Amino acid sequence: MRAVTFQAPHEVRVEDKPEPELEAADDAIVRVDATGVCGSDLHIYHGRVQIDPGFTIGHEFVGTVLTAGDQVTSVSEGDRVLGCFHTACGRCFFCMRGWYMKCDEARVFGHGATLGSLQGTQAEQALVPTANLTLRRVPEGVSDEVALFAGDVMGTGYHSITAAGVRAGDLVAVLGLGPVGLCAAQAALAAGAAHVVAIDTVEERLEMARSFGAEPVHLTEGDPRGYVKKATGGRGVDVAVDAVGHPDALELAIRLARKCGTVSVVGVYAERVEVHMGLAWIKSLNMVTGHANVIAHVDPVLELIAAGKLDPSPLVTHHMPLDDAAEAYELYDKREALKIVLTP
Ligand SMILES: [Zn+2]
Ligand SMILES: [Zn+2]
Repeated sequence: MRAVTFQAPHEVRVEDKPEPELEAADDAIVRVDATGVCGSDLHIYHGRVQIDPGFTIGHEFVGTVLTAGDQVTSVSEGDRVLGCFHTACGRCFFCMRGWYMKCDEARVFGHGATLGSLQGTQAEQALVPTANLTLRRVPEGVSDEVALFAGDVMGTGYHSITAAGVRAGDLVAVLGLGPVGLCAAQAALAAGAAHVVAIDTVEERLEMARSFGAEPVHLTEGDPRGYVKKATGGRGVDVAVDAVGHPDALELAIRLARKCGTVSVVGVYAERVEVHMGLAWIKSLNMVTGHANVIAHVDPVLELIAAGKLDPSPLVTHHMPLDDAAEAYELYDKREALKIVLTP
């Protein structure tokens, strides 16, 4: 089968690899019908994630179950399914408490040996461990490219809103309108937020946020602090989402949140950064951080997608054949696409 493999920084290749085989009774093999290129794939592409040359990359997928082990009960052969971007054991301390994203045995598709040596999904077929938790049936009427979002990007946007406890009538600010930030804006509106202030510097992204019903404010040409002050009578937003992963964004989120509000940090941090802790303390802020609990959210997210309350379809800007993966990564690296869907 064909698979997209990492070779060296800025070099991916479509190679022939052996088809996967079942290894455990709760594994499934999925024929991949659509797979996405994601921001975290770029970390691999840039060589920031340690990964062996020849390893298959990719972690977003929708496909058809070809075969499943005896212990797989939630899906069966022939089902159209979507996958979450990582697996979870369902038995450890963290899984028992529903914190699947922190499972002691979690494995992330397509991230090499450091994250569980699980071959990626930018391929014609993928081996899916713990299939009962990792896979879901795609609801009738939901397209492959839309379902794709439930297992990663929309699950993450949804997490940033639900983990922060957004309620109907709330005022929300979303900083950073990449795919996750745009999904967070949609999730906030779906949760009944009265105002969603969407902040970025890219005109097309601001425009897309506006088309969802958010209020776009340009980070530098506009005045996000002044806007929020006016919109909230000087109080600040109930929830400010940092969907960037940069201390400047985090600092602005801390400033935009009201007293006793919540800062939801869904942007990725791996190093020490400086934030104004004094401000956070004086305002009695709550902070939500870390990886999204996508496995816990995948069912409600699919329901909201099927009901049309979440619609990530405008985020799909490019469709390409899997064989053009090298070109797709080049394009994505230039930030010329929001979501590229590859078809094997
Ligand atoms: Zn991803
Ligand atoms: Zn676990």
